[in-house]
Amino acid sequence: MTISVTPRIKLAVKSEGREATTVRVGDFLVGGDRIAVIAGPCSVESREQMMEAAHAVKAAGATMLRGGAFKPRTLPYSFQGLGEEGLRILAEAREETGLPVVTEAMAPGEVGVVEEYADVLQIGARNMQNYPLLKRVGRAGKPILLKRGMGSTIEELLGAAEYVLHGGNPDVILCERGIRTFQKITRFTLDITAVPLLKEVSHLPVVVDPSHGTGHRELVAPMARAAVAAGADGLLIEVHPNPDEAKSDGAQSLRPEGFSSLMRELGPVARAVDRSL
Ligand code: PEP
Ligand code: MN
Repeated sequence: MTISVTPRIKLAVKSEGREATTVRVGDFLVGGDRIAVIAGPCSVESREQMMEAAHAVKAAGATMLRGGAFKPRTLPYSFQGLGEEGLRILAEAREETGLPVVTEAMAPGEVGVVEEYADVLQIGARNMQNYPLLKRVGRAGKPILLKRGMGSTIEELLGAAEYVLHGGNPDVILCERGIRTFQKITRFTLDITAVPLLKEVSHLPVVVDPSHGTGHRELVAPMARAAVAAGADGLLIEVHPNPDEAKSDGAQSLRPEGFSSLMRELGPVARAVDRSL
C-alpha cells in the first residue's frame, strides 16, 4: 500500500472485516448507495426563515436539514445564533418536513441540550481539536458530523474521529469543508483530494461542504458535482430563502431555485459513479 496513516490510529481506519461503515440517520444510511444531501441555512434566524428553508429543501429532494442554533462566529459582534430557541424551531421544522436535523454543538456543556433536539450533532471546523468536546460527543447517543479543521491534516481529522470512536460512539461522518491556503479569492480551498484519500484509508462515510469550502454561491454547484464524482457519500449545502438578508454566510448560500437545479444536476453525476440521489 502506498497510502497509509500512522498505525496509532486504530478505529478510524479500515481493517479486515471493516471496509465501509454506514451511519444510520432515521431510515437513511449515510455511506450507502444514496448520496446524502444535508441542506438548509447557515443559521436558524427565525421560525419563518427556517420553515421556508425547510420546505424548499425538502421539495427539492434534500435528505436532511441543517441550521445552526449555536454559532461559532469570528467576532463577538456578529449574530451568535438563537440557542435553544433555534433548536426548538429546528425540531418543529423536522415535524413539518420529516427531515432529520443536523446542528452544531460548540461546547461540552451544550451537547446535552443539542442531543435532545437534533438527529446528528455537528462538530465545527474550529472545534475539531477541542478534545473535551470530542470526548463528550463520544458518549452521545447520536451520530456525529465531524468537520475537518481549516488548518488540519487528514491524519489530524482521523485522530479527532478516533476520539469519538474511542469514547464509544461508532457513528461518525467525516466532512471536508476546505482548508486555508494562500488563495484569497475563495474563502477556503476545498480539498477534493481528501475524498478519495479518506475513502482509501478510512471506513467512515465522507461528506463535502462546498458552501464553506468556496464561500461563493457561484462555485457551490460545480464543486458539489466534483465531490460526488470523486466519491463523496454526501454533501452539506447552505440554502437560504433570501441570502441577501441572511445573518450569516449569505454570499455562499444558494437560493431555493439554485438548490433545486443543483439537485437535478447531481442525479446523472451520481449515476455515473454507481450511486443514486
Ligand atoms: C457551519 O457549518 O455552519 C460552519 C460553521 O461550518 P465550519 O465549522 O466548517 O466553518
Ligand atoms: Mn455557515
